[in-house]
Amino acid sequence: MEFPIHAACQCGQVTYKLFAAPKMVLACHCKECQTLATAPFSVTALVSADDIEISGEMQEWERMAESGNRNRAKFCTGCGNRVLHFNPDDAHLLKLKLKPTDRKYDALFTPTAHVWTSEKVSWFELPEGVKSFPKQP
Ligand SMILES: [Zn+2]
Ligand SMILES: [Zn+2]
Repeated sequence: MEFPIHAACQCGQVTYKLFAAPKMVLACHCKECQTLATAPFSVTALVSADDIEISGEMQEWERMAESGNRNRAKFCTGCGNRVLHFNPDDAHLLKLKLKPTDRKYDALFTPTAHVWTSEKVSWFELPEGVKSFPKQP
């Protein structure tokens, strides 16, 4: 795999370069993620803040997670695409939402586990043999 990996939001205003593979990739089926992603689940790549360079103008929004952790979101001021989430009390680890769409990065961003399957939509079938958890493990 060649690094850095490039990605851009829908309007192209926010771009990033990722210099290392994600530490972990999770698919989350919780209702918050369904709303966030306007899709049955969201896919999050955990990356170290040192491994990514982001440019472009972003706005922030924050909510409390069920764990009691603060969950701050950054999104493009132009198209509203969600770029990442992080806990401001532990800003070293970023939860990358915006991912490259190039097919050659598929393998790198394949979820290794599906979480919050207790809130999963009924019509989506989990892939065979994948790890899953009813809530946050
Ligand atoms: Zn944008
Ligand atoms: Zn979720």
